[in-house]
Amino acid sequence: MTADVLEINDALTQYDPVMGLEVHVELNTKSKMFCGCPTEFGAPPNTQTCPVCLGLPGALPVVNARGVESAIKIGLALNCEIAEWCRFARKNYFYPDMPKNFQTSQYDEPIAFNGWTEVVVDGETYRIEIERAHMEEDTGKSTHIGGATGRIHGASHSLVDYNRAGIPLIEIVTKTIEVPGEKAAAVARAYVSMLRDLLLALDVSDVRMDQGSLRCDANVSLKPRGSSVLGTRTETKNVNSFRSVERAVTYEITRQAAVLSSGGKVVQETRHWHEDTGITTSGREKSDAEDYRYFPEPDLVPVAPSREWVEEIRATLPEAPSLRRVRLQEEWGFTDLEMRDVINGNALEPIVATIELGVTPAAAKKWWLGELARSANESGQDLDALGVGPVQVAEVQKLVDEGTLNDKLARQVFEGLLAGEGTPAEIIEKRGLALVSDDSALLEAIDRAIAANPNVVEKVNSGKPAAAGALIGAVMKDMRGQADAAKVRQLLIEKLGI
Ligand code: ADP
Ligand code: MG
Ligand code: ZN
Repeated sequence: MTADVLEINDALTQYDPVMGLEVHVELNTKSKMFCGCPTEFGAPPNTQTCPVCLGLPGALPVVNARGVESAIKIGLALNCEIAEWCRFARKNYFYPDMPKNFQTSQYDEPIAFNGWTEVVVDGETYRIEIERAHMEEDTGKSTHIGGATGRIHGASHSLVDYNRAGIPLIEIVTKTIEVPGEKAAAVARAYVSMLRDLLLALDVSDVRMDQGSLRCDANVSLKPRGSSVLGTRTETKNVNSFRSVERAVTYEITRQAAVLSSGGKVVQETRHWHEDTGITTSGREKSDAEDYRYFPEPDLVPVAPSREWVEEIRATLPEAPSLRRVRLQEEWGFTDLEMRDVINGNALEPIVATIELGVTPAAAKKWWLGELARSANESGQDLDALGVGPVQVAEVQKLVDEGTLNDKLARQVFEGLLAGEGTPAEIIEKRGLALVSDDSALLEAIDRAIAANPNVVEKVNSGKPAAAGALIGAVMKDMRGQADAAKVRQLLIEKLGI
């Protein structure tokens, strides 16, 4: 019996991983790619359809100009060349959620190609080459009823919702990515996370991984260390969180290493990712030259964006992420190490948003890294899935600034926020967290501290004011931390006449 997986370190001493990432992005256009149907998520099934997106005979599609504009934006932001002339193609296959029996896509004439981008992992920058970004349409959505797993196998019947059929998609495909093996999974995660930030900044998609508007397929292969010949790849489909991208790549490396090191062959196939167990299982075998009988779509005119239009779009692009990082680091006064923690913790955007709400960079970093990113990490969640956002962080910091909370109490408020206990005000109320600002209560505690520590008072009186620190500590303890230390200090100084 050979093991199903090797230890990741064993795997990486024998093999170099190679990755290729395919990311599908649903655009946020108001209407679908080839018809006027609306695109809102969550509408009742089959209420957003028409003859075009249902593929009824004789219906004629028309290209959504805004969809093309978004595709060009994405292409330019990924440093791609933009085609002067390109066509849509029919990708022919049958599936019940695809009523036309072909998907309108692009084949050998993508709108954008030959680009590159960069990601930062552990302070190191990795360049990722982009093969192409092409336009296509989403399919409908099948729901299989009666089976145990929600898959078609074992189901009694299936339901199809065509609301999603025809929603514009951009597929972004990288060239093969070869980075040091121990960084591969983290680079894959950083790439998808960077794409999300970029797409948000471009305002072309909602990029909700949980709603499927950003989906990643991860191709992974191994080759013997130092070899330049590519191995056989698998394609793990629809991995839908940043963390899952990292886990799925790691799992495939360890699985393929076990297959290869025991003399087996990796099968070229699609694989399913299982979030709960952290493994991939075999899907369908897939050859490189699958015959989709692609041919140019005869019902659509070619897309020929004028160079003037492309330049107009280029002029609207936001600052490149790498330049923006450098600028923000300078503005915030963070060290390289601090900035690296921010990036690695995926906390850049939340921190930007929190600072925009009036919080200082240092405080924003303290809460996002010290409390929230740490907690996300512990519970294995993505930071933006925690349910605590910039608005709440700014609220808590405001309470600290006003003297209602100190840092220690603020941490407990965050704990309450993460546990879903309500707004900061409600949590303070329920948990009884507010600082005691009533001078008389503080003065009573000071009297108790003085009475209990005559030797400390003696020292202070004999010309050692620093000794008063012990009294402040005693008062804070007495108040169970719910006092503003600066205020206690002030009152104590007055009392002892230092
Ligand atoms: P498919 O139709 O199979 O999805 P694509 O061209 O859309 O093919 O995407 C294939 C992806 O797999 C690309 O990102 C490519 O760089 C990557 N890839 C190709 N060969 C390998 C390999 N041997 N190992 C890892 N990734 C690979
Ligand atoms: Mg593909
Ligand atoms: Zn329609």
